[in-house]
Amino acid sequence: MNDALARAESLIDLTPDYPEPGVLFRDISPLLADARALRDVCEALAEPFRGRFDIVGGIEARGFLLAGYVAAVAGVGVLPIRKAGKLPKPAAAVSYELEYGSAAIEAPGVLQPGERVLLLDDVLATGGTLAAAQQLIRDLGAEVAGSAVVLELSDLGGRAHVGDVHTLFTARES
Ligand code: AMP
Repeated sequence: MNDALARAESLIDLTPDYPEPGVLFRDISPLLADARALRDVCEALAEPFRGRFDIVGGIEARGFLLAGYVAAVAGVGVLPIRKAGKLPKPAAAVSYELEYGSAAIEAPGVLQPGERVLLLDDVLATGGTLAAAQQLIRDLGAEVAGSAVVLELSDLGGRAHVGDVHTLFTARES
């Protein structure tokens, strides 16, 4: 890892037992607030996919911010991938299992058939969210150009559910 990315990683804030006991929450807010770190991270996220995507899908909520930056630099648009119940006209929805219960994500009907979507999020944990986002893109008749996250929690096994994913930083949840 280069010095710029090491600096960006050092800005991720850790909070034990949030939002529930046993979870070490990784908050990228200080990284997003730092102009250099935001630029360095967004450039590194997009680098392997340069010229190979038509739109950037950001997963609610921190993925929105990464997607907006990457899309602006690449000169493409943004697809907001939302938690269920936030869109007036969802075009597709995918449910996935959480540790306790289930969740769903939705997307608006703005993709063209075969459009190549680069998916971005902050953290890959169990992989349920990103796998659902990938399915959502396919259900909409578009193509997943690639998936990238800032931080992968490697011991949670999420990578097994999402195929090839580009991750900048790796940590252990426990
Ligand atoms: P998962 O579906 O288990 O891979 O969880 C990934 C989603 O939950 C991402 O959108 C993250 O924002 C959030 N998330 C899961 N675990 C953490 C964590 N330890 N710190 C921060 N965000 C997390």
